[in-house]
Amino acid sequence: MAAAVQGCLFCRIAAGQLPVERVYENDSVVAFKDIHPQAPFHCLVIPKVHVATLNDFTVEQRALVGELLLTAKLIATEHGLPGYRVAMNVNHEGGQSVFHAHLHVVGGRTLKSALG
Ligand code: 5GP
Ligand code: ZN
Repeated sequence: MAAAVQGCLFCRIAAGQLPVERVYENDSVVAFKDIHPQAPFHCLVIPKVHVATLNDFTVEQRALVGELLLTAKLIATEHGLPGYRVAMNVNHEGGQSVFHAHLHVVGGRTLKSALG
């Protein structure tokens, strides 16, 4: 596994060095509650390895990209969400503020269709 990146918040969370409310973990991904939830249910799914943005995943990491999405589905099912949104912000212009790639899984209320 690639080394954690010094100073990366989500590498520290993946390594268990910061307290978060974990909702799921396997060999390659971790999911935890967002500290500033935008809806009654809001968690983040991250790869354990440091990948800064969606643009930085390699073709060889395609299974990891799939794992992130399937984890979102699993979590939504486990939490009984009848509908939900999965979003990944990419780069500053796309609304990304933490540069360790992550999926938002948002639900628990009826969501508006607008994306931004
Ligand atoms: P972005 O804006 O990069 O797409 O999303 C980053 C998300 O990380 C935000 O929704 C923000 O609330 C969340 N976040 C930032 N710092 C922390 C933290 O220390 N703990 C948790 N659980 N979430 C965080
Ligand atoms: Zn990182």
